[in-house]
Amino acid sequence: MKTTGYAATDATVPLARFEFNRRDLRANDVSIEILYCGVCHSDLHQARNDWGFSTYPIVPGHEIVGRVTAVGKDVTRYKAGDAVAVGCIVDSCGRCDQCLKREEQLCREVVTQTYNGRDRITGEPTYGGYSKNIVVREEFVLSLPDGLDMARAAPLLCAGITTYSPLRTWNAGPGSRVGVIGLGGLGHMAVKLAVGLGADVTVISRSAGKTADALALGADRVLISTDEAAMAAAASSFDLIIDTIPVRHDVSPYMPLLDVDATLVIVGQLGLIEEQSTLPLLMGRRRLSGSPIGGIAETQEMLNFCARHNILPDCEMIAMQDINAAFERMERADVRYRFVIDMASLEAA
Ligand code: NAP
Ligand code: ZN
Repeated sequence: MKTTGYAATDATVPLARFEFNRRDLRANDVSIEILYCGVCHSDLHQARNDWGFSTYPIVPGHEIVGRVTAVGKDVTRYKAGDAVAVGCIVDSCGRCDQCLKREEQLCREVVTQTYNGRDRITGEPTYGGYSKNIVVREEFVLSLPDGLDMARAAPLLCAGITTYSPLRTWNAGPGSRVGVIGLGGLGHMAVKLAVGLGADVTVISRSAGKTADALALGADRVLISTDEAAMAAAASSFDLIIDTIPVRHDVSPYMPLLDVDATLVIVGQLGLIEEQSTLPLLMGRRRLSGSPIGGIAETQEMLNFCARHNILPDCEMIAMQDINAAFERMERADVRYRFVIDMASLEAA
């Protein structure tokens, strides 16, 4: 099927209109008309080849919401017209211990990324959600629960699950003290989800500029990371900290904030982290971890949780043609708090 999207053809050029083909439906495939797609900082990283493994052209987008238009003959879970969603992964080996545990994001073979990946059967490049249509194996399609506003749900598919998964892994809930470093797309979802889970939530931001927003999102307080006295006073006061900073940085100012046995989880892919002393790790038995998105079952659990608790991202709707300006604003941390592309704009153009 011929379709249209927006692609980066090189690390240094703006995204532009791109015509390409989606595969014919396999027996277990679902064809989806994309209505909305969120703009993740990972899209920017990969469009610009920040991580060194981009293969061009890249059609970014892994926060996808739309409607089923057709299904393969063996598909049982979906039918034309269903409201569905697709996140960061579209396939995995299905046989290893992690896939069998439904932690496909940890597949022992390489998991298939929604874009900048390779189809497991044909080896063809995968193209993401900055486009009109997508074809995805049914096991990797999520059901969008009734009551979740389709126009706002898209960011849940990456920003939502990437923060929900560590909150669940480290048992955030009533009585736990959660810190969120960086109030951007992931950070604001971490706040809403941690509040929804019943935790005590602190936003750790570089300046006081987002304080009113943080409190409105449900955070209990804001800690300014550049205020040394406030940072010292907050020592040993967190059970879990989720670090969403998108660039290489020094984690050592944040480690002393952890209580005994507490964990700082990095979700940004940063390459090297700055020199980290073992001292705060030893003294306090603190942990430094990472976490990649989440499995399909956990993503569905998160969508259902958001529907039940009426948790939705704060979105700024943009036209597809505005993507390059949106990337520039994201680079300046000028997003409150997630851009979502209205894919109808692509047709209109
Ligand atoms: P974002 O919307 O741009 O938000 C990042 C926030 O970090 C900013 O709002 C800002 O918050 C803070 N920040 C930005 N630049 C900074 C700097 N130079 N120093 C300190 N803080 C800074 O990005 P996002 O979409 O939330 O993504 C965050 C990171 O997670 C990206 O690296 C992305 O690739 C990664 N990611 C990982 C996964 C995963 O599976 N592990 C999934 C999705 C995304 P303040 O203004 O409050 O300081
Ligand atoms: Zn993402």
